[in-house]
Amino acid sequence: MTRTGQLFIVSAPSGAGKTSLVKALLETLSDIEVSVSSTTRAPRSGEVSGIDYHFISEEGFQQVVAQDGFLEYATVFGNSYGTSKRLVDEKLAQGVDIILEIDWQGAQQVRRVMKDSCSIFILPPSKQVLEERLRGRGLDSDEVINKRMRTAVDEMVHHEEYDFLVVNDDFEVALDELAMIVKTQRLAMKRGKLTHSALINQLLN
Ligand code: 5GP
Repeated sequence: MTRTGQLFIVSAPSGAGKTSLVKALLETLSDIEVSVSSTTRAPRSGEVSGIDYHFISEEGFQQVVAQDGFLEYATVFGNSYGTSKRLVDEKLAQGVDIILEIDWQGAQQVRRVMKDSCSIFILPPSKQVLEERLRGRGLDSDEVINKRMRTAVDEMVHHEEYDFLVVNDDFEVALDELAMIVKTQRLAMKRGKLTHSALINQLLN
């Protein structure tokens, strides 16, 4: 049996720094990629189709759902988001580790079908810091900020469903912890024995 890739799920409330952490993680490790989701939401300025998301219509999204083409999908902030089953399966078969940056609803669906997946929840260091990060450039009204804070709590109540918890206070520390989780999974016996099967074969025979 050859080694296949490991599936990682990373969830966090918006403002916790998940996307920046995952981006930095990909620069520090090899053989790991992030899955590009499909979404019906409009691109934000600077976002590129095929890199940040596959931006598709609601009809296009429903077609993929009808063909059972999503590993998981969910409605988040009124828009549809989904992970392509085929793209994930192809990469895992090539031995590449895959990160899914998805919400708690998607995480629950993936855990049901991918028993070996490893899930990580990222928390902000405090409510104050989360609010400051959500306020960002100060473009949103208090009402919008309050709504985003409530949505963040709705996501964070699910933290216990995950295998690992990382607090993003100091970015470098959080990044180091994420990398440690990935490396630990790679060393776990069920994967390690496949990675080193030639060596083990030689040592035992
Ligand atoms: P944003 O629109 O700000 O990029 O993402 C909004 C939320 O949707 C984030 O919590 C993100 O994790 C989640 N999300 C992005 N892609 C997917 C996906 O493919 N599936 C699910 N379930 N959630 C996703």
